[in-house]
Amino acid sequence: MDYDLKIVGGFIVDGTGSPGYAGDIGICDGKVVAMGHAPAGARTTIDARGQVVAPGIVDIHTHYDAQLLWDRKLSISPWHGVTTVVVGNCGFGIAPTRKEHRSLILRTLENVEGMSVKALEAGLGDEWGFETFPEYLDVVEKKGTLINVAVLLGHTPLRLYALGPESTERAARPEEVRQMKNLMREGLEAGALGYATSKSPTHVGYEGRPVPSRLAEFSEIREIASALGDAGEGVIQATVGKELSFDEFAELNRVSGRHVSWTALLGGGGVLLPGREGGGGGGGVRVARAAETPPPPPPPP
Ligand SMILES: [Zn+2]
Repeated sequence: MDYDLKIVGGFIVDGTGSPGYAGDIGICDGKVVAMGHAPAGARTTIDARGQVVAPGIVDIHTHYDAQLLWDRKLSISPWHGVTTVVVGNCGFGIAPTRKEHRSLILRTLENVEGMSVKALEAGLGDEWGFETFPEYLDVVEKKGTLINVAVLLGHTPLRLYALGPESTERAARPEEVRQMKNLMREGLEAGALGYATSKSPTHVGYEGRPVPSRLAEFSEIREIASALGDAGEGVIQATVGKELSFDEFAELNRVSGRHVSWTALLGGGGVLLPGREGGGGGGGVRVARAAETPPPPPPPP
């Protein structure tokens, strides 16, 4: 049997954690059918001498939500061997977004992710071609991307959609929470990978305001997350902050039965994330702290 494609002479790192080794790879019908030793001929052969041959990297935390609409290559990820990206992390995204809130959502991204509003406006143009999350997915799919893209539905656009500018000021009313949960359900049906949110004090949006998700009470987050439980699919991504830490992640897992991943473990000298136990919004989870160096011994007498 000849292979469709053969990659020869590369240093194979198979992704299992096993040590790498030199060898050839044979591929048929898009599947690896020989690895290490691939003696048959092939219609196409790639000489990979001096190169590492490895599975594509899945980057589960990116913010390409806007960029992928004008940069189908999602540069620079593929340059580093990334073949799948997840967007919508930290609860940011650009859908669903009503026309009148476009400027607010772009200025939020500008502040929190350091993206130039001028670049965002130039890239997205006047006609976004979507308002709802399912419409956004349709546009992404229609434009096409060089690598695989999975989209988390972000709490920040969800909240801005349901509450308008007040999303940076107050808790949601019961009917607004219900609306967000319904939009989450609709998003999952359309193909969302899951739900993302953030309570991180570092997530500051337009005019220095907290991003909308930071104003959410935990009951709101739990209710939206429960849509994943109803659907029996999806994952939850959350960025640690006030009233959103390990106990709450466990609760989200309980109500939804879905996996929760959290971002990020911040390093630095005794970083104290604002949390549940008072004190400047602080006293919460000490996520990481620099090693405590014992005092030097007293000089000998
Ligand atoms: Zn992020």
